[in-house]
Amino acid sequence: MKIVLQNITKIFPGRNKKVDEEVIAVNDFNLEIPDGKLIGLLGPSGCGKSTTLYMISGLQKPSQGKIFFGEDDVTELSTENRGVGLVFQNYALYPHMTVKQNILFPLQNLKGDDKLSKQQMLDRAVYAAKLVQIDDLMERKPSELSGGQQQRVAIARALVKMPRVLLLDEPLSNLDARLRLQTREEIRKIQKKTGITTVFVTHDQEEAMSISDMIVVMKLGIIQQVGNPQNVYDDPVNLFVAKFLGTPPINVFEGSVKEGKLYLDGTAVMDVKGADDREVFVGIRPEGFILDENGPMQCHLNNVEVMGRDVSIVSTSKCSVNPVIRSIINADNKVDASCENVRFSLKPHKVFLFDKQDEKRIYFEVR
Ligand code: ADP
Ligand code: MG
Repeated sequence: MKIVLQNITKIFPGRNKKVDEEVIAVNDFNLEIPDGKLIGLLGPSGCGKSTTLYMISGLQKPSQGKIFFGEDDVTELSTENRGVGLVFQNYALYPHMTVKQNILFPLQNLKGDDKLSKQQMLDRAVYAAKLVQIDDLMERKPSELSGGQQQRVAIARALVKMPRVLLLDEPLSNLDARLRLQTREEIRKIQKKTGITTVFVTHDQEEAMSISDMIVVMKLGIIQQVGNPQNVYDDPVNLFVAKFLGTPPINVFEGSVKEGKLYLDGTAVMDVKGADDREVFVGIRPEGFILDENGPMQCHLNNVEVMGRDVSIVSTSKCSVNPVIRSIINADNKVDASCENVRFSLKPHKVFLFDKQDEKRIYFEVR
């Protein structure tokens, strides 16, 4: 089911009379979510991800704008009538019911044409339980399950009504690191198998990048960039997006452009033909550095961390905005950790320039 969000805005009124400041949680949001895809809604806490998801689900009404499922305008439709499955961060299972009863629950109130026989309900519940691999836990109570298993029950309960749209709000946040990894792979598998259009909300960029067909990066209720995860990483439109994606994060410097060259600390480090003369923020991905004894960029070497396949070189420089610079170099390169300085040349397609004022990307010719 294709989902279209058209000029969606959500304004929460001020809470008390003294501080009567309204919050624009979502600001003129326009997005088309293609049928059968998994979309990662990504951004820092408070940027309006949950609010956007709740508007898609019908739990909240937009202050302005329209929502379409396929060609149908569902803006005024209640949650029950939208055919959505919802999963939250805290699993919200009924504690006194067994796993089976929890999964069956959404089916028991179906009315009219949707009403199912007992056997049909059971078949559906078993099907959903099998999808998330908890079919052997059906008689247990939630308190007898691990966090990961509880979250699977919650996902099964969302799937059992065969929703047209699956909405997941930070579903992995309460799980430990290993389970988080495993469960996110399973969510991806289930999504591919069922082909349900899915919106996955997270503040974790790695999580979003790893499972999404398309990511939507948000800041303060406003969409910053939409695209395939790799493209957004390779081609950020502004400093915020560049900083939000990538581990270790992008290195940011203060520099300037003069006559087609990029200067850091008064040294020309790279050609940036096509960019106008001005002061800039320079973003360099950790993998954008080449260890090069004749390289133009000199940094003070702090230490070298061996990570097996790669080495991470930690250094400092006057023009760096962050306390340290992290560069990731192939371990085949020998780095003498006792040296005082280290020199780099740069990979042009891993270097991004941004305007000092509005922090938008400034493009230059990459050869
Ligand atoms: P996220 O899920 O990205 O962390 P939310 O969508 O929950 O962000 O919130 C976006 C903004 O809207 C925040 O500033 C939050 O404080 C505010 N907000 C969310 N829900 C309400 C509400 N019911 N009443 C008032 N403000 C709200
Ligand atoms: Mg949230």
